[in-house]
Amino acid sequence: MKLYSTNGNAPLADLKKAVVKGLAEDKGLYMPCEIKKLPAAFFENIDKMSFQEIAYTVADAFFGEDIPAEDLKAIVYDTLAFDCPIAKVEENIYSLELFHGPTLAFKDVGARFMARMLRYFTQGEDKGLNVLVATSGDTGSAVANGFLGVEGINVYVLYPKGKVSPIQECQFTTLGQNIRALEIDGVFDDCQALVKNAFMDADLNARMKLTSANSINVARFLPQSFYYFWGYAQMKKLGLADHLVVCVPSGNFGNICSALFAREMGLPIERFIAANNSNDVFYNYLQTGKYEPKASIQTLANAMDVGDPSNFARIYDLYQGDHAKIASFISGAIVDDDCIGATIRQCYQDNGYVLDPHGACGYRAMKDSLREGENGFFCETAHPAKFKDTVEKILGREVEIPERLAAFMKGEVKKIPLSKNYEDLKNYLINEQ
Ligand SMILES: *Cc1c(COP(=O)(O)O)cnc(C)c1O
Repeated sequence: MKLYSTNGNAPLADLKKAVVKGLAEDKGLYMPCEIKKLPAAFFENIDKMSFQEIAYTVADAFFGEDIPAEDLKAIVYDTLAFDCPIAKVEENIYSLELFHGPTLAFKDVGARFMARMLRYFTQGEDKGLNVLVATSGDTGSAVANGFLGVEGINVYVLYPKGKVSPIQECQFTTLGQNIRALEIDGVFDDCQALVKNAFMDADLNARMKLTSANSINVARFLPQSFYYFWGYAQMKKLGLADHLVVCVPSGNFGNICSALFAREMGLPIERFIAANNSNDVFYNYLQTGKYEPKASIQTLANAMDVGDPSNFARIYDLYQGDHAKIASFISGAIVDDDCIGATIRQCYQDNGYVLDPHGACGYRAMKDSLREGENGFFCETAHPAKFKDTVEKILGREVEIPERLAAFMKGEVKKIPLSKNYEDLKNYLINEQ
């Protein structure tokens, strides 16, 4: 496959380059030059296929020219080593639970897929690959777990000291093996600045092979489209795939963007809802046609606290900036913190279903928007136990921690304390080689 840059000022890249580099030379995001339509027979039989079989068919359409079938199959099957069940919440509204991976959040699939694809493209090279990732919590755990035990790749997670929750922290500090947790005496922006400095440091890059596991990487965002084919198949099995509405709680818009790719491949989804917390940049774009990024606002659904969603450029490019077209099948919704709380309470009382704050945005937006004759599923993007304190305060009852999450908390914490001074990071990395 060939990929172009959304900024239109960089040469076409092949898949390996796009995955290893992440961003194009002109700082644009890579987009596939061609999106293949899948055959009608695939959609007719999709409800009889396993998650892995469906995902492999989709992956083959994107990556089949670049990766031999057996290798691609191994990448897909190894990535999807867990379920993605759909749960009925109430009449016509279903929850696609994307949180059954190792860190209980939907980013696990993208991170695991990217780790395996990077491994495929760099195996046999004499220098190992080093992934640097700055995190305010969730990305670090998904990336660290996704790359855990992947041969030839070391991961350095930079996180702000005292600024991530204890549950999040132990998801990347207790792993060991090829994962190093660097506790930075600073805030998230310092961590991000350190990573940026490292990528721009020619001397360091001559000594070691560096890459990022950023969510804009095609190998992280495209595989998320598997979820939507699978979700459609589950609704079809239930006889509810007609007039299907899909609602995605969104922050950087990578997840919903992958759903739009699925639609371009022929997946019959009638319309989409992009659910947001109080960060309303995309919502406002849908209303006015103007994209005006702003500083992010802190909310209860903090993985969606984004004021300038990086994948907006991909959505805009996919539809050639045609606002009327985009707004014709994507609607927006804003769910503020009060409404998140009220929604978690109401959904539990009425349906006995415990939402996390992100899924609450999805459920609320779906419930307010679903019309007569439509069926819908929303993505439940994280397990409520990941936001235990928030959900317990709202519901006034305990939220059980699943075994997988509890296991992290029993592990031995290992972290390397560093200052926010770039030279300290550089010396540390060089000594590690
Ligand atoms: C990252 C994340 C989101 C937002 O996904 P995007 O692809 O950035 O839109 C939503 N919910 C949870 C729990 C997340 O971790």
